[in-house]
Amino acid sequence: MSAKPILAALALTVAACSAITGPVDAGPAAVLPGPQANAHYTPAALAAACQGKDGWADPAPPAHIYGNTWYVGTCGITALLVTGPQGHVLVDAGVPEAAPLVAANVEKLGFALRDVRWIVGGHEHFDHAGGIGEMQRLTGARVAGIAPWAKVMATGLPDDSDPQYDDLVKHPMERVKTDRILASGAKIALGGTLLTATATPAHSPGSTSWTWKTCEGQECRTITYADSISTISSENYWFSLHQDRVAAVRVGLDRVAKLDCGILLTPHPSASDLFARMSAGLAPAPTACAAYAQAASQRFAERLAKDEKLKAATQQTIFEAIGAAEKAKKNR
Ligand SMILES: [Zn+2]
Repeated sequence: MSAKPILAALALTVAACSAITGPVDAGPAAVLPGPQANAHYTPAALAAACQGKDGWADPAPPAHIYGNTWYVGTCGITALLVTGPQGHVLVDAGVPEAAPLVAANVEKLGFALRDVRWIVGGHEHFDHAGGIGEMQRLTGARVAGIAPWAKVMATGLPDDSDPQYDDLVKHPMERVKTDRILASGAKIALGGTLLTATATPAHSPGSTSWTWKTCEGQECRTITYADSISTISSENYWFSLHQDRVAAVRVGLDRVAKLDCGILLTPHPSASDLFARMSAGLAPAPTACAAYAQAASQRFAERLAKDEKLKAATQQTIFEAIGAAEKAKKNR
């Protein structure tokens, strides 16, 4: 790492809660091509290029979302670049195979990889965070995240309270040290942009949603990167046996519903019809987060009912087996 990124990185602050200070030393300005220089990288062009493709490593062109925010992911997995004169933040990196595609998209837009100062993520699963180790090597960026996310990143292995543990453990990730542990509500301050982390533990223990404001002239928008909120699990996992997880899911869904909701982006584009919305112009929708959470709450309620039914059926089978054994004993 050259002296320039080190100096600039030192000038950045990741502050807990509301105590935010801006960079002390702005350092040399990062290259900021701006939306005009990349006018052809539109959301509609990205949506068209990804039509019929949703593979995690299916290459996609980058796209300008709004202001300082760019889509740099693949057709199947979102990665975002939030740019600023004092360096950039990368949000998620996809599967390891996607990392070179993400890096190429950053460069296609005219940004320098060495100007990426922070990497953060949505949740600690290999399809979103598996490429973070590679992106860290390519950029020299530091990594920030909430404690449950950082714990998994440190070992590369899933948390044992993760409903998808049995499947995730087959896909260990490259281990990554988190340089800054954030509390829910903490902000990353970078050259006038503040990214707020909100722990939304619906999909996984470390699920984190990110919100920030970005302006084009006087027109400002909130960008809301709401994490995954699906409550899928490995085959033999019953939510009814894990009440702590059920409570965490409810907290996560509730917080997602209440996020400052502007332009909604999600780790899996398909989870929020992102490409269809891109084709239509990607307008801010203040009620989109509540609707996104409401649909997931409905699916979670159905899943819990299914678990309860299965539990009752299993208990019935056990009772019948005990009954039959006792009857056999009496008849002996
Ligand atoms: Zn996941």
